[in-house]
Amino acid sequence: MLRVIFTLDYEIHGNGQGCPHALMVEPTERLLRLFDEYGAKLTILADVAEIMKFKEYKDVHGRDTYHYEAIAEQLRRAIETGHDVQLHIHSSYFNARIENGRWAQDWSEYDFASLPYERMDWMIRTGKQFLENLLRPVDPNYRCVAFRAANWSVSPSRNVVLALVGNGIEIDTSVFKYGRRSGIVNFDYSHAHSAIVPWPVHDEDICVRNDDGALWEVPIYSERRWLGAFATPGRVHRALSGWRHRLAREAGSTSDSDRAPPSGVRIRWVSVLLKKHAWKADFNQCSGQQLINALHRAARSHDSEAQGVLPFVLIGHSKLFTLRNERTVRPFLAHSLRHPERFGFGTLSRSVLPCKPGVPA
Ligand SMILES: [Zn+2]
Repeated sequence: MLRVIFTLDYEIHGNGQGCPHALMVEPTERLLRLFDEYGAKLTILADVAEIMKFKEYKDVHGRDTYHYEAIAEQLRRAIETGHDVQLHIHSSYFNARIENGRWAQDWSEYDFASLPYERMDWMIRTGKQFLENLLRPVDPNYRCVAFRAANWSVSPSRNVVLALVGNGIEIDTSVFKYGRRSGIVNFDYSHAHSAIVPWPVHDEDICVRNDDGALWEVPIYSERRWLGAFATPGRVHRALSGWRHRLAREAGSTSDSDRAPPSGVRIRWVSVLLKKHAWKADFNQCSGQQLINALHRAARSHDSEAQGVLPFVLIGHSKLFTLRNERTVRPFLAHSLRHPERFGFGTLSRSVLPCKPGVPA
């Protein structure tokens, strides 16, 4: 049995541009309406650093230019209606200032995993408190227990694991097996314990299983695939949007799909074509049929080893949830619903971990 868990990074563009109503509130409203039709659940991973800035702007200027109240209301209503809200942190926003109509961020704090422990600890504590203060009035039992770092940056892991556990966070969902980045963030998750089976993490390396670990990694579902699997309209939209709203610093960055060998562009493209790449179950970028096929592959390859229910974690971004995207997600929802004996819907903080004393079931 697989539990389908939709996680949504809830934020504006990474370079500080964009209207929070258009990029967060409006698309998430459509997503919640769509999910409610099918009984599916959304786990909103709310970037508290941005949201706190929008609130601060309102408090200081007396104008809700960045739609803080609509965001707060949407998060409260999500909890009220059985969806989930958990912690996402774009650390560079904590010191952000408005410059020429966009949020100018503190680039020295861009890479979460490389921050000093004390700073990281403060950010997690502040973010968790913010969500619990906001959401407990609608659900007294609400707890912030799950986390995703911006740009999946949880390596090196020592400070991250220590700070998450110290603040009562029980689940990290930043890792996707086979993923690699080098540049403004740096990680290599090739050796992650699994692409789908959660594991208690080792203090020194979040990719490694340690049965005594207090923090669980619930990975974003991923596979290694040839380049052709990446040719979808959703991915073209993401690439164009990313290019339009790119960071000035990104020129120097490489990812696992654009790492250049020393001998030039032609060889580089041959290498890109001949290599397999980390393919995440991304509900903005994958076609509906790709998601359905991946769900079945995951069920086939993992059901026998499963101790009960396994989470099939998808990732998406509110800012990329277009009207076209509704038409790719709908068949996947309908398919999951048609096979209740094999697939169910769930949230990140409920029903994803194997039963273990002290761990939420
Ligand atoms: Zn994000």
